[in-house]
Amino acid sequence: MPKKIALLPGDGIGPEIMAEAVKVLEAVGKEFSREFTFQSLPIGGTAIDEFGDPLPPQTLQGLKESDAVLLAAVGGPKWDQNPGNLRPEAGLLRMRKELGVFANLRPVKAYEPLLHASTLKEEVLAEVDLLIVRELTGGIYFGDKSRKPHVSGEQATDTLVYTTEEIERIVRMAFVIARNRKKLLHSVDKANVLESSRLWRETVNQVAKDYPDVQCEHILVDNCAMQLIRNPRQFDVLVTENMFGDILSDEAAMLTGSIGMLPSASLGAQVGLYEPIHGSAPDIAGKGIANPLGIILSAAMMLRHSFGWEQEAAIIEQSVQEVLAKGARTADLAGPQDTKVSTSEMGDLIVQAI
Ligand code: ATP
Ligand code: MG
Repeated sequence: MPKKIALLPGDGIGPEIMAEAVKVLEAVGKEFSREFTFQSLPIGGTAIDEFGDPLPPQTLQGLKESDAVLLAAVGGPKWDQNPGNLRPEAGLLRMRKELGVFANLRPVKAYEPLLHASTLKEEVLAEVDLLIVRELTGGIYFGDKSRKPHVSGEQATDTLVYTTEEIERIVRMAFVIARNRKKLLHSVDKANVLESSRLWRETVNQVAKDYPDVQCEHILVDNCAMQLIRNPRQFDVLVTENMFGDILSDEAAMLTGSIGMLPSASLGAQVGLYEPIHGSAPDIAGKGIANPLGIILSAAMMLRHSFGWEQEAAIIEQSVQEVLAKGARTADLAGPQDTKVSTSEMGDLIVQAI
């Protein structure tokens, strides 16, 4: 059976980079005798323009019937003044909720040829290869919020809620991932202050009993934030709750030098959602200069996590490494001395390497 992949090109540079990801998937399919069917569906601003809805019903239907979803990017200045539910990002949040993707995986890998682009020292960054597993559908983002009058003006409250079940499913996923990597897992919390973190830590210790081959460490989030900059190589897999994960994954992203390189996966019980971490980059849309490697690496994650095709995923990742090592650079990666390649030239180079 061919794998049904839903494509969400979206807005801005989305369609340009999506075309390169499809090229790469077709090349991998050819090389490994794997078959795909692609269905392109409207989302975000373009869907608002065409259907008056950032996540039209037919898109949601198509997503649920697919084996995996590849998303490029949504949003742009054209829709920024729209009312809440008619904004492109509203479609994105609704989609994540509908698909029940509770785990967000963000690999952070330092590509040797790009290290000079970072503001940090090369010797700190060399060989960084870690993965942050962030809880995505619980915690303080979703707890009760309220305001009430206060003598000084107002009082505002956010509530941080986690249940054993919510913690257990994300932690279990992190252990499985850690088992397939270096068998080292850091659980990040604030157990010296937060009750939800104490439940988190207790649950991690319970789940750990099922994975005796994985070394499990607890680290406080403030210390973790520091260690990510001081010595990121000490980490392999990190698992944490929603807000800590949001902050730490943006921090860790900067270890690699360019936002255009970073992929992500959002997983749950149903279909997995894969997307680069960057946005729709309206400032460079239509120019053919966007870096397609973030979405190409997201496609690799799709092959690994949705289909279990490790070799196929690895060949894409090795090709990216190889093409960068040979000096190919899109504008965002290029130094003053480098010759720049276009979006589609970069895609072609990856295809050739495969
Ligand atoms: P969002 O809110 O959707 O995250 P944003 O406005 O915060 O969007 P991006 O769209 O990611 O951020 O753009 C931030 C900057 O990075 C822009 O200058 C953009 O051109 C650049 N950028 C983002 N993605 C890429 C890419 N794939 N290739 C080259 N440059 C990129
Ligand atoms: Mg942004």
